[in-house]
Amino acid sequence: MKPEYFVVHYNEIAIKGKNRPLFERTLIDNIIQSIKGLKANGVKRRYGRVIVNLKEDSQIEKIQEKLGKIPGISSYSPALKSTHETKDMAEKALKLLNEPKSFYIKVKRSFKKHPLKSMDIAREVGTEIFNKTKLPADFVDPDITVFLEVVENGTYIYTEKFKGIGGLPVSVSGKVMVLLSGGIDSPVASFLTLKRGCKNMYIHFHSEPYTKESSRKKVEKLASLIAEYQGQTKIFMVPLIDIQKEIMLKTDKKYRIILYRRFMFRLAEKLARRNKAKALVTGENLGQVASQTIENIHTIQATVNIPIIQPLITYDKQEIIDLAEKIGTFETSIEPHDDCCSLFLPKHPSTKSDLKTVEFEESKLDVEALIKDALKRTEKVTINQDL
Ligand code: ATP
Ligand code: MG
Repeated sequence: MKPEYFVVHYNEIAIKGKNRPLFERTLIDNIIQSIKGLKANGVKRRYGRVIVNLKEDSQIEKIQEKLGKIPGISSYSPALKSTHETKDMAEKALKLLNEPKSFYIKVKRSFKKHPLKSMDIAREVGTEIFNKTKLPADFVDPDITVFLEVVENGTYIYTEKFKGIGGLPVSVSGKVMVLLSGGIDSPVASFLTLKRGCKNMYIHFHSEPYTKESSRKKVEKLASLIAEYQGQTKIFMVPLIDIQKEIMLKTDKKYRIILYRRFMFRLAEKLARRNKAKALVTGENLGQVASQTIENIHTIQATVNIPIIQPLITYDKQEIIDLAEKIGTFETSIEPHDDCCSLFLPKHPSTKSDLKTVEFEESKLDVEALIKDALKRTEKVTINQDL
């Protein structure tokens, strides 16, 4: 049976008090944007849910797949609609029953003026179904549950409830700038901020020609995979090599990685401000590599004055990998690539840097000029979800 609608539910948004209209509007805009071209017949807010109207030639499977990737959606169900008459509800419900062994009816009566109470609706519809099919009702372990949502202008009926990814609609928390490497962690961090309503933009540092162009392509591919959850976005490609060469030539090699990363953060902060992003996001994870001790995180981040979100800071590697697999970035992340951070690194980088020493090393460089030059040569790439 072809559905006529998708009934879309959003939990978390409902509790957001006076922000609720904005959240709902944003969710609807995001759904419209995401299923554009799939021939839906409109997306509307109806009584605390979103209804996607379908028509004969709507690309239902693709729409369903998209709904599973939109932050803010807690569940979505392909549905039919009937009047407020229980006979009519039963007739539509029967169309959805594919020879189950038993059934149960769950009624949500949002339209409080319906003359029957939920229990009575369930009983009448259940009796009707039983009379037509002799199918037993099972209140404990039913083979199928028929959901009836009674709203002002009719009743939505469905038997399948797909879990959405939850969270908040992209954009309601504002823009952020994600430092996206080619690794496993930062794409997962990106997904987590998207899920909390951030509109992600990306920044990637390369060391071309020492790092290959294929590494840059890999990062674009990762950004496009995450873009499936957020729609079109931008990635800034920043050349780091001249900065790295200066660091290599003029400073103590023990602090190279710290200095590279201080420059990365400075550049990221500048690009964030220019593009109205309110925070930086990284895939940093406590203790994972030399630059990720608390001491080094401090010396690195002390150079900027913008909130830094590190969604993965306390995760286990396996938890990160599991999430990477779930969101579909893992396979791409493990493809080989050159990492700009590993260029010119000593065997034993400092794991416990202190700010004074690092600042002293950095004073040997013309920081302003290096930053200005890297920004001038930064390229902006537009990322689409189907790159
Ligand atoms: P990832 O798997 O995300 O590369 P990682 O565990 O390898 O992380 P690092 O290489 O120390 O850790 O990087 C820590 C964070 O710094 C990354 O998660 C990412 O946010 C940022 N980062 C590192 N290298 C780059 C780069 N070349 N371009 C942009 N951001 C980067
Ligand atoms: Mg890395």
